[in-house]
Amino acid sequence: MKRINVTRSSMPRIEEYIEEIKDLWESRWLTNMGAKHSELQDKLCEYLSVPQVSLFTNGHLALEAAIASMKLTGEIITTPFTFASTTQAIVRNGLTPVFCDIKADDCTIDADKIEELITDRTSAIIPVHVYGNVCDVEKIRETAKKHGLKVIYDAAHAFGIEVGNKGIGSFGDASMFSFHATKVFHTIEGGCVTYSDKSLTSKLQVQKNFGMINAYDYPEIAGNSKMNEFQAAMGLCNLRHIDEKIQKRKKVVYRYIERLKGLEGITIWHEQDGIKHNYAYFPVMFDKELFGKSRDEVVDKLSEYNIYARKYFYPLTSRLQCYMGKFPIQSTPVAEKCASEVLTLPLYADLSLDDVDMICDIILNLR
Ligand SMILES: *Cc1c(COP(=O)(O)O)cnc(C)c1O
Repeated sequence: MKRINVTRSSMPRIEEYIEEIKDLWESRWLTNMGAKHSELQDKLCEYLSVPQVSLFTNGHLALEAAIASMKLTGEIITTPFTFASTTQAIVRNGLTPVFCDIKADDCTIDADKIEELITDRTSAIIPVHVYGNVCDVEKIRETAKKHGLKVIYDAAHAFGIEVGNKGIGSFGDASMFSFHATKVFHTIEGGCVTYSDKSLTSKLQVQKNFGMINAYDYPEIAGNSKMNEFQAAMGLCNLRHIDEKIQKRKKVVYRYIERLKGLEGITIWHEQDGIKHNYAYFPVMFDKELFGKSRDEVVDKLSEYNIYARKYFYPLTSRLQCYMGKFPIQSTPVAEKCASEVLTLPLYADLSLDDVDMICDIILNLR
């Protein structure tokens, strides 16, 4: 039986990649902001419709650098319904995460519940456009403005999404995108920060390059998180095909919707109005009472057929063992319920519609 994973990396043709990296044997400039790096940075500004892009070796370190560049202090209001990276980036910066509950319909932070969590120690809000679902950016902007807080979006899932005609990376003070191999657009490992305040350019540069501004001056304590030329070359190749890949993902998503919509006990992902989506994930919630089987029983059944769906996001990051006893954990009942019911089904550009049908048949036969 062939194996179907939750995702499968898109790759350019090997000849295209070889053609792209050939220059590097001439230039011998393999990292440290080379020609491919600059070209990718410019092309991403355009594709993402954002004023500025700063590239990083991965999304996680991009988020850590964005936080560090703003000199945040104290408490950060964030969501527990995300990948560990979001919360780890906060804690590794010496800050305390304060967990806000999410909305049941799209799993993004419940912006109406942010204000009650603000204290005189709060310095920022770090929401997540989880599954590429767009947060309530207007309400978050208002709340942040009223209380003088920074906003950094974890947009790891949101590559290419547009709200009206605006790139999703143009909201807040900064946004982080991940270009990990499993994401919609990738540079093998990679990521970026998008932002509009030009004074962040040098601050992010210092963060990714050992805290130095030139060979002799080190104003900051920082590590190394530069994107190299082979990563940037992969990005240049993948960017040429991104629209086609997103269209193929859309077909897969529409097939899932057609097969699974309206079934008792199953709540499926739905498109938000007025948003250009990227079809990054297809989350499904299984209500054990109504569907008759729990999410975990669905996972087990699929794995008997060599199909590996993933429980994104379970457990909540507020439940991670490494945080126990370190700071208070707020109660987030909606997020708890979503984490116990959610399953993200296999989804990638080259997943065949026959395979989608097979996955849906297995789920439907479980009832
Ligand atoms: C993938 C991901 C990250 C981390 O990105 P990397 O590029 O893998 O370091 C951060 N946040 C979320 C929500 C993610 O899914």
